[in-house]
Amino acid sequence: MAKPIQLYNNMLRKKVPFSPLKEGKVLFYSCGPTTYDFLHVGNARALVVGDLFHRVFDSMGYDVTFVRNFTDVDDKIIEKANELGVDPLEHSDRFIKECQKDMESLGMKEASFTPKVSETMDEIIEMIQTLIRKEKAYVLEGEVFFDVPSFKEYGKLSKKKLDELQHGRRVQVDKRKKSGADFVLWKPAKEGEPSWDSPWGKGRPGWHIECSAMAKKYLGETIDLHHGGVDLMFPHHENEIAQSECANGCEFSQNWCHNEFLNFGLEKMSKSLGNVITIRSFVESFGGEVLRHVLSSVHYRSKMDWSQEVIEKAISEMERIHIFVQNMQETVESEKVIENEEQLVEVTTLLNKMKKELSDDFNIPGALSSLFSLIRMINREYFGAKKEGDKIPLDKSLRSKVFEVIAFLEKSTGLVYESPESILSKLKSAKKSLSGTTDLNEEEIEELVKERIKARHEKDWAKSDLIRDELKSKGIVLRDNPDGTVSWTFK
Ligand SMILES: [Zn+2]
Repeated sequence: MAKPIQLYNNMLRKKVPFSPLKEGKVLFYSCGPTTYDFLHVGNARALVVGDLFHRVFDSMGYDVTFVRNFTDVDDKIIEKANELGVDPLEHSDRFIKECQKDMESLGMKEASFTPKVSETMDEIIEMIQTLIRKEKAYVLEGEVFFDVPSFKEYGKLSKKKLDELQHGRRVQVDKRKKSGADFVLWKPAKEGEPSWDSPWGKGRPGWHIECSAMAKKYLGETIDLHHGGVDLMFPHHENEIAQSECANGCEFSQNWCHNEFLNFGLEKMSKSLGNVITIRSFVESFGGEVLRHVLSSVHYRSKMDWSQEVIEKAISEMERIHIFVQNMQETVESEKVIENEEQLVEVTTLLNKMKKELSDDFNIPGALSSLFSLIRMINREYFGAKKEGDKIPLDKSLRSKVFEVIAFLEKSTGLVYESPESILSKLKSAKKSLSGTTDLNEEEIEELVKERIKARHEKDWAKSDLIRDELKSKGIVLRDNPDGTVSWTFK
């Protein structure tokens, strides 16, 4: 039987008991990335939070159908592809693959469905036709707009008033529209843009309609939970609600959860961190589990600052956890019968506490604090005087209970997915690069990079390799990008 879960429903602005449409099942939709470039570490927060929800439901015994889309038709993609002189759909396809690699490196569970806009065109067109038929949308010269004032509940999620939206705009962008708040469902394609046939001529969908169409296709007309970053609440989610509720004639999502931002303030960064802005470069420098841990160390509804301090804190927490896991793996089952019932009771209590924290609006920091209490207790009792290679005997039931905690942690939070041996050495070098232990400054590195590019132009491969090796010996890794530029990171 699935265990009860409480979550903060942003539609009601309060915490409520999760009560799915079908007992024990979760229909869950999360807005996925637009694939036009490598994802930024800021994008990783929504991905990791979506994965956390998926995992917590799953480990609490729910049968989850999880849909996370890829926006592969979008202005930004077309712009980037045109800049590079490549086909927009091929371009976005390339970055879907890169994004999948990033998600794998973050230890994310696979979603049940990961639809693309380009493959959902029939359902999108059908939904727009329904909206026109129901007089919730209108056509203007090959373009289709959603008639916002026709949906009286518009603004119910973001708590915005329609009046203010209609009159509060300083610039009326498109004078043909019935209302300034109306948004586009279908737009005619310009020369050189990807386009699909539709009853309104060749064109492509506006951004918001895809999520309504995909949620309906894979999950049905009403879903249990919709998630996305807080920046998507308005207008994106508001528009999704308007489209879905008008087309389907029923509630779209029973619950709405939004994760807060990752702030990139004026915090002074180490040189290495300042260069690390994509998930890929962070993972190359510090490892995926470090990023996952950083993003898990704060509750999803709290703002989070991207700073050297939070990364260092995550690394030291991970060291404590992984050293503990390693010590546990080196223990042996004791021949003796239980000597201390209290410890078993305490571990069981802490495991239940972790479960309770995670069931209470996905409170990872709370669960981690119970985990650290457990680690402290076992360390104090058994590993205080442990030397490398010691095989500490542990009572059979206690030992298996602790392993149950470790397995639960991995299943429900996605943390601790690398083996202690590999991660502990990675953490050591992550710490080194965070402290910036290289004697070259940024200008000197850039100078050497330029010199190497020049050598490559002149086909002086020996010199090019020499510079690469010199930088490598100082902990700097070069990457040759397909467009001819070179980026570098600290190892
Ligand atoms: Zn969406």
